[in-house]
Amino acid sequence: MDAPLVLTTRLDPNEIDKEAHNIDVLWEYPLEFYLATLEYKHPKEIDSIMDQVAGRIGSALQYESFGYTHDTRDISEGPGESAYKTLETMIDKMNAQLELARIIRAVDAKDVVYRVITKHFLPDMIGNLKSFSSQSLRCTKCGAKYRRIPLKGRCYCGNNLTLTVHEKSVKKYLEITKEISEKFDLDAYTQQRIGIVEESMKSLFQSDKVKKCKLTDFM
Ligand SMILES: [Zn+2]
Repeated sequence: MDAPLVLTTRLDPNEIDKEAHNIDVLWEYPLEFYLATLEYKHPKEIDSIMDQVAGRIGSALQYESFGYTHDTRDISEGPGESAYKTLETMIDKMNAQLELARIIRAVDAKDVVYRVITKHFLPDMIGNLKSFSSQSLRCTKCGAKYRRIPLKGRCYCGNNLTLTVHEKSVKKYLEITKEISEKFDLDAYTQQRIGIVEESMKSLFQSDKVKKCKLTDFM
């Protein structure tokens, strides 16, 4: 997804992302590994018996004799395009992920929903809500930025000013968050947190003065 900022011609395994050092390079897993899984041991406890790239850094073996358990015809086989790109809206992506969670027995779908909401959607919405009210304004024509609206009410070049953070991007995840939190019956505390965020958004975007109501609302 990200555009490369630096291109390098010589790869030093010590300089790459540490996550990539966690790859095990055994030709087959020892019995101790499977026994440890039955006891739900922490991966750190059997670190020493699993030959990993991390332990080879600095030696000649950091480049060669990597074992693997499943062969392939072509190392570049696999999806040519990520589902993250082919699925258009965030709702599509979320539903696809939850469908996977539902059919994989080892995955607790409710826990996936809980994590996505508390680690991703809620912080995003709270952050955007804050940046909406402390945002700067930008001129559509000359690109000048203002921390406050000039007294003229428009840019000094005469053009109109526009927001840099829009209502739409603040509310982006609200509907999907509400939908899946109800569908998966999340705990009351999380539901209340979502409710509070929704209230804050209403308070920010809906004017209390301009309220459309029918005569029957008073009866
Ligand atoms: Zn301007």
